[in-house]
Amino acid sequence: MAKHFASKPAAKKSSAQGLNEHRARKRFGQNFLEDDGIIRRIIKCISPKAEDNLVEIGPGKGAITQHLLEACPTLQVVELDRDLIPVLLSQFIARYPDFSIHQQDALKFDFSSLLGEPANPLRIVGNLPYNISTPLIFHLLSYHGQVRDMHFMLQKEVVDRMAAQPEEKAYGRLGIMVQYYCRVENLFDVPPESFNPRPKVDSAIVRLTPYEQLPVVAKDVKTLEKLVNTAFQQRRKTLRNSLKQLMPAAAIEALDVDTGVRPENISLAEYVRLSDALFELEQG
Ligand code: SAM
Repeated sequence: MAKHFASKPAAKKSSAQGLNEHRARKRFGQNFLEDDGIIRRIIKCISPKAEDNLVEIGPGKGAITQHLLEACPTLQVVELDRDLIPVLLSQFIARYPDFSIHQQDALKFDFSSLLGEPANPLRIVGNLPYNISTPLIFHLLSYHGQVRDMHFMLQKEVVDRMAAQPEEKAYGRLGIMVQYYCRVENLFDVPPESFNPRPKVDSAIVRLTPYEQLPVVAKDVKTLEKLVNTAFQQRRKTLRNSLKQLMPAAAIEALDVDTGVRPENISLAEYVRLSDALFELEQG
């Protein structure tokens, strides 16, 4: 298998397709970036270096890829749309022989396979397909120990949820679980006019930096996820009422957290305390 292309070759008919002939596909969440000013700002935030283990998800027609390769010629990309593979190869492979393309679904992709020997933590970037952004973020969080940082373009509303703090309207499951693993920085907003076709919503750039040592550690992360899901299923209920599905009233009363409040009123550290109590209860 050629180093630069780690999957089945794209269909023959598409190999003649040029940069401008590829039509954006909604099912792949394709909104191509066309604003040079925004692209340069993104690259500046990423600050790619030759020695980085840089991975781009969804390179599309290569708008960001081009600049990443200039700084880091060993860039690897994961792209699902096989019709884009020849577009990428024809632009970059002659100039960057160490460029690798994985024609794969990022949702199922094993990112630890890209670590190299000796392992070099990943720097993951991408203008992500908005239709799969939340499951993709959860998939990537499972590699937190192998990732140095991540820079993503996402729907602004999703970035707001990731960065939200207790008492804020956007605070919920996504923010709590992302903040469990990562420092979250909401870097800047991007308007719909920067893309072709234009998305219906505003976008934003976020930086996620996984902690080397988690600030709070749950005894069992699956229990934390279950608890947070249950708590936010009905945002208007008090925690005490929601938690009744998971533990007996007496156990709730014995907790060292005020459960007479709504789920948006308590911090990540308090969720971890509740989760540890639930885990111990379940262990018997
Ligand atoms: N990076 C390009 C840009 O900024 O112009 C394209 C961004 S576009 C919003 C999202 C890209 O992700 C598309 O190239 C799309 O084909 C690709 N994509 C969609 N679903 C994917 C998946 N499950 N795995 C990998 N790539 C995917």
